[in-house]
Amino acid sequence: MADCLFCNIVNGDVPSTKVYEDNNVYAFRDISPQAPTHVVIVPKEHFASLKEVDNEAILGKLLMAAQKIAKQEGLDDDGYRVVINTGKDGGQTVDHLHLHLLGGRYLEWPPG
Ligand code: AMP
Ligand code: ZN
Repeated sequence: MADCLFCNIVNGDVPSTKVYEDNNVYAFRDISPQAPTHVVIVPKEHFASLKEVDNEAILGKLLMAAQKIAKQEGLDDDGYRVVINTGKDGGQTVDHLHLHLLGGRYLEWPPG
């Protein structure tokens, strides 16, 4: 998707700070971090949101990547949160499926 920001991050046309990469998944630091650790985890293949995913395996791969990155970022002891904003009410602003991995401070619940 030529006009998709996260596709352009995956292909290197838009710079990012890489945290993790494998065959199917790319992860980078959020440009506007909401916690000391804030990583965006995306599938390399374009899906607009959780609503559009028809590939069960990629969802497992994204979550397993989140688990690995959390460990790599030293979040295992104190915990962390994984979020998928979806659509207008979910607060999704970039239409390429992504997980937020947040940690490094206590995260309030419920979210605003
Ligand atoms: P969402 O609001 O769930 O769609 O999340 C999109 C996230 O992408 C936000 O947390 C933004 O701060 C982040 N973001 C937008 N542009 C960039 C960028 N160029 N590099 C890294 N993160 C970005
Ligand atoms: Zn995309």
